[in-house]
Amino acid sequence: MTPLAALLIRRIQHGGPITLADYMADCLMHPAHGYYATRDPFGQGGDFTTAPEISQMFGELLGLCLAQTWLDQGAPSAFTLAELGPGRGTLMADVLRATARVPGFHAAARVHLVETSSTLRARQRATLGAHPVIWLDSAQDLPEAPLFLLANEFFDALPIRQFTRTPEGWSETMVGLSNGALSLGRAAPAIIPTLNHRLTDTTPGDIVELCPAAPAILQTLSDRITRHGGAALILDYGDWGSKGDTFQALKSHRFTDPLAEPGEADLTAHVDFAALAAHSPAHAYTTQGALLTALGIQTRAAQLAQRLTGDPLTQHLAATRRLTAPEEMGQLFKALAIYPPSAPTPPGFA
Ligand code: SAH
Repeated sequence: MTPLAALLIRRIQHGGPITLADYMADCLMHPAHGYYATRDPFGQGGDFTTAPEISQMFGELLGLCLAQTWLDQGAPSAFTLAELGPGRGTLMADVLRATARVPGFHAAARVHLVETSSTLRARQRATLGAHPVIWLDSAQDLPEAPLFLLANEFFDALPIRQFTRTPEGWSETMVGLSNGALSLGRAAPAIIPTLNHRLTDTTPGDIVELCPAAPAILQTLSDRITRHGGAALILDYGDWGSKGDTFQALKSHRFTDPLAEPGEADLTAHVDFAALAAHSPAHAYTTQGALLTALGIQTRAAQLAQRLTGDPLTQHLAATRRLTAPEEMGQLFKALAIYPPSAPTPPGFA
């Protein structure tokens, strides 16, 4: 049993079953035993790989997309260049390299990284070298300034609550105990006002998920973008609307039982992009494959391929495919842009 499993069992023995959100929060971010709080989980030796770790092209293209959006909005002379949940810092490093020759962009950018894990902050510091960076604990602390922001595989890591519709109301999925071990159960049905809008597109038996932390974060991003200009580019796996059980655990690149080893596996859920876009000033939505293709990934891939032979060339071609092909990440992963209604749509989203 992991140390965190023992803590959770004691907590449930004393206080009763907990929501999936409470369970995920402890498993991912518990200061001593949480998954992100204690390790660097990325890459081949880790538990999962993300787009920026697959190819430098991902960050280059998104960086140039943000820089063009900045130019289209009149190149504000001081702005926040931010990332939520930067992992190893690879995406921001690629963004900074690709935008180094955009006149005025670096001079105006103040890099802000929203990261709770001190282990990963240290890793980000190492990746970004001498570049000045301000770390924040929460998106709500982002400065009052134009905001150009990226978030890749951030929202899937935020805790969710899960509900099954019944004829009597919504029955919440809870983590409780069965024979002394952690087990999933369901609370008695209740009326959940925040799910009233889901009564039209669901029937009894359907499962929906809610991310309680997302609305406040999106409100901050939308507020900064509406008042000062900017754009947020959010990429993740998920869909427009949430339906079905998408709570999952990954360990060593394989799916595993989310209750088996609390703190030792990555826990995620699919992102509901409709919920993220709900209060945005203006938004555009597409797939990762369509976005990267529109931003010119094939041209960039061919350019990089000219310098490669043998295994590195094979890996480069596989990485390009992995990011864009519909049967790989191209279709499951979506991209949402949030921007001011008065500004042009960011490149690639039109
Ligand atoms: N964007 C990176 C990493 C994604 S993993 C990439 O694409 O490779 C999720 C990241 O979000 C990690 O850096 C994790 O520590 C961070 N994170 C998770 N929950 C967070 C929260 N509530 N606030 C800030 N950062 C969080």
